[in-house]
Formats: sequence, structure tokens, C-alpha cells
Amino acid sequence: MIPFEKSLPYDIVMGDVYAPKCPFCGQENVLLSMKPGEVQSVREGKKKLLVFPCCKNKLTVLDSDQDYLLTDTNIRR
Ligand SMILES: [Zn+2]
Repeated sequence: MIPFEKSLPYDIVMGDVYAPKCPFCGQENVLLSMKPGEVQSVREGKKKLLVFPCCKNKLTVLDSDQDYLLTDTNIRR
């Protein structure tokens, strides 16, 4: 179970990983610097640094489930 305040929703479209909305600046449909394979590999304990292309904010992805990426940052306020 992923804590709500550290969860980032994502979608995989045509082999790319998108966030419906950037948690920092509110930009919609943000292409994440992460491949679908990396959504899997974070489940096996690999960490992944994400840099948002819209505003250059960064967070680290620690885990994932079907719908959410677990990050190290409180992104829901
Ligand atoms: Zn942003």
C-alpha cells in the first residue's frame, strides 16, 4: 500500500510514462524521464531519480503499483 501523500499517479501510453499532472507546477500530461521497465524495476528495490521536464523539480521514485509511483517526497498538500 502506497502512502497517499507520497503517491504520484502515472499512465503508460505507447511505451512512454506520463504523469497526468505535475505535482510541482500543475502542468498536465507530463512525459516522465522513466521507461515502463523502470516502473517495474523500482518494485525490485532500484531507486529512480525523476526530473520533471516542465519545471526541473526532482523527486526519487522508490516503489510502484499499477496506478501510482511511490516517491520520497510529500507531493499532495
Ligand atoms: Zn512541473
